[in-house]
Amino acid sequence: MPALESLMERMIRRSFPELAHEAIYIHYDALDNDFMRYEKLHSGHVIKVDESLKRAPASVKKGGIAHELAHIAHERLMDEKVSDMDRQAYRRSKRYRTLDERNTDLEVILRGYGKQLLEFMRYVKAKGYAYDIDHGLALKEVRLLISRRPARHMIAIPARWR
Ligand SMILES: [Zn+2]
Repeated sequence: MPALESLMERMIRRSFPELAHEAIYIHYDALDNDFMRYEKLHSGHVIKVDESLKRAPASVKKGGIAHELAHIAHERLMDEKVSDMDRQAYRRSKRYRTLDERNTDLEVILRGYGKQLLEFMRYVKAKGYAYDIDHGLALKEVRLLISRRPARHMIAIPARWR
């Protein structure tokens, strides 16, 4: 089994068990303006990983793959009609896209891949990719969400309660 495939299989077993019997393919491809994306097939899904990630550390690849798996896991909960509406709204509305991507990143964190997501984000940023807010959570937000200590400025306690 190619490395990319076994990496994904392990992740599915560990954190996306509901996808264990879904047909999900993964391979490298030359993507323009994207590091990773997924596409719906007639039956199943394919995750395309840009060739520039071939030499990236496994943790970076995991961060990106977890994001795509979270999309697929979410889509799996929709029937055909809802999923079709979801895709149309995603294409047409920037706000919908932003919300969808942010929820997807939250799902990645809840499934235990926040650290890898952060590494993926740092990696693509270092490659000059403009990571703006509609791609999902901001780097700083992911960092705060996965840190053990709650950031003090996130919990603003009114003076009269202290
Ligand atoms: Zn996404």
